[in-house]
Amino acid sequence: MSINNTELSRASFFQSDIWLFTIYIVGTFEFIFWLCNGFLIIIELYDFPSIDKYRIQKHKKKLRFQPDVTQLMIKQTIHHQISTVLFVPLLYYLLNYFGHLDIQGPRPAWSTIIYQLVLFILSEDAIFFWTHYLFHIPWLYKTIHKKHHIFKQPTGVVSVLSDPIEGLQNQLAVWFMPVLLKEKHIFTLCIWIAIRVYQTVNAHSGYNLPYVSTQYWVPWIMSGTLAHDFHHQHGKWNYGSFFNIWDRIMDTHRLSIATTTEKEVDYKDKKFIK
Ligand SMILES: [Zn+2]
Ligand SMILES: [Zn+2]
Repeated sequence: MSINNTELSRASFFQSDIWLFTIYIVGTFEFIFWLCNGFLIIIELYDFPSIDKYRIQKHKKKLRFQPDVTQLMIKQTIHHQISTVLFVPLLYYLLNYFGHLDIQGPRPAWSTIIYQLVLFILSEDAIFFWTHYLFHIPWLYKTIHKKHHIFKQPTGVVSVLSDPIEGLQNQLAVWFMPVLLKEKHIFTLCIWIAIRVYQTVNAHSGYNLPYVSTQYWVPWIMSGTLAHDFHHQHGKWNYGSFFNIWDRIMDTHRLSIATTTEKEVDYKDKKFIK
């Protein structure tokens, strides 16, 4: 009888909302993160002239994952993966505390999904810009943000390289609006995670590949790989994530002429393209 009860409680745990939420969120994160990084690791290790021509910092040698670089990245990536798994159950309670999180109900209408995703993106972009802007105040940079800037020539996995406080800042930016919304659905949250992970890995990819970045399509409003690569190269400017609107308002939007496609030439001054 007691065995049956144990089996029953085990079965109900694996069907519980908190378990399903953890699996869906962590699963989406890992799938997109390793899909994109798998591709980036291959093109970093092997030479494909048709892809290498899009490498942004061509004046430097390819990273090629030297042992010390690899060690640091593996360590940091493992830290990040563990903290994600620990953070997600807490997030489940936060999402339910301020509203209702639907895990097993029917998918919301596409209009609701799109409206919520737009809210998530706008909110993340504003919080990310301002906290990132503050992280570049000298003492905050030295004590917290410098760790993310170790690589002046970034690659995809650098996106998770950060001090734990910066890790929290990232989570705050991503989850602030979903936590505050009254009604949310796991389907929308998984799309949101997929978009955000893709965006940040792409921004750190080191390759200005055509078509794959929103910056390629609408460079006058979207930030992306060129902007964030430039940020790592110089340790300043281009603090935004999705858009460059806040950077334009604060006059921190810069792109190098040498790394810029024809589409962006409209914004040039002598040395930089604003
Ligand atoms: Zn920075
Ligand atoms: Zn970065």
